[in-house]
Amino acid sequence: MLGRRLHDLRLSVTDRCNFRCAYCMPKEVFGRDHSFLPKSEILTLEELARVARLFAGLGVEKVRLTGGEPLLRRDLTKLVAMLAEIQRLKDITLTTNGSGLAALARPLREAGLHRVTVSLDALDDGIFRAMNDVDFPVGRVLEGIEAAVEAGFGPVKINMVVKRGVNEHEILPMARRFSGAQYILRFIEFMDVGNTNGWRMDSVVPGSEIVEVIRREFALEPLAPNYAGEVARRFRHVEGGGEIGVITSVTKPFCGSCTRARLSADGQLYTCLFGSHGHDVRALLRGEPDDAKVMRVLASLWSAREDRYSELRSSMTAVGPKVEMSKIGG
Ligand code: SAM
Ligand code: SF4
Ligand code: SF4
Repeated sequence: MLGRRLHDLRLSVTDRCNFRCAYCMPKEVFGRDHSFLPKSEILTLEELARVARLFAGLGVEKVRLTGGEPLLRRDLTKLVAMLAEIQRLKDITLTTNGSGLAALARPLREAGLHRVTVSLDALDDGIFRAMNDVDFPVGRVLEGIEAAVEAGFGPVKINMVVKRGVNEHEILPMARRFSGAQYILRFIEFMDVGNTNGWRMDSVVPGSEIVEVIRREFALEPLAPNYAGEVARRFRHVEGGGEIGVITSVTKPFCGSCTRARLSADGQLYTCLFGSHGHDVRALLRGEPDDAKVMRVLASLWSAREDRYSELRSSMTAVGPKVEMSKIGG
């Protein structure tokens, strides 16, 4: 046991997505005949709100809604409103591919969502369409980002996964476009999550290299972490005022300060992004009406965790099957 505190909860609200990013849901695996979870196996809004409330009682202050693509979940705004009633939650956030954000940014804001992160891997339309692999135009995601800024979500966080030979030339265009104070840009090292994305170490562009590339054009000033356990190395654009950061989960792992619990759409609790199996919290929620008892189990699952996959990665020659990213949402 490493004694890590429990600070964040990631709730995956659906396992479905309208994109097929090759690093997450490659088409060959998530094809037309792929069977997604039936409705009966997915946590209801009430179950999601209950589990968030119980986790808040255990010290969680931040909830992130994710997926799959969370905006595909019907009544997401209703869920946000239910979460907004939980007093101890200081931060309710959402990670989305942005495809449906233009229409939903305002209602989500009105329902009580605090912040939005949009995943965007390229500004070049051709590269973006190829990376989402469903020919989705980048312009619609940019509209979603602007709608989020206009709805009062600024600064909006933008996540870019960098893959060698695929979109590394988009690093500078992205840094230019999102250098203003209404954005926070995060570059994420391509990770070996799941079993299907064909990960190889030589496809990873190290965070240090990303920072070097940006520094060729921009003056950057290092920023101190916002809180213990924050995973990004952060910088401020000296001129534009915006913030950039790199998430170096491959080259500089941060397992010692990993404070995130992850719940899949079917209510399986993962204490590590690279876990091979989850704990069945859905059965617990459906079978145990006593909140105090459920909380005791959740607390013991958390305190028993020993995972530190990223720190051990190089010494692990064979690991069992890992959970897919689209199941637990990053
Ligand atoms: N569909 C939403 C989206 O794309 O923002 C939410 C779910 S997605 C699984 C959450 C985040 O995981 C996205 O920012 C995505 O880029 C990131 N991600 C997925 N697969 C990844 C990988 N292999 N390496 C690094 N990040 C990855
Ligand atoms: Fe969908 Fe997000 Fe995965 Fe892309 S990264 S396939 S948008 S869940
Ligand atoms: Fe946390 Fe697992 Fe990632 Fe380490 S590898 S930081 S324990 S999720």
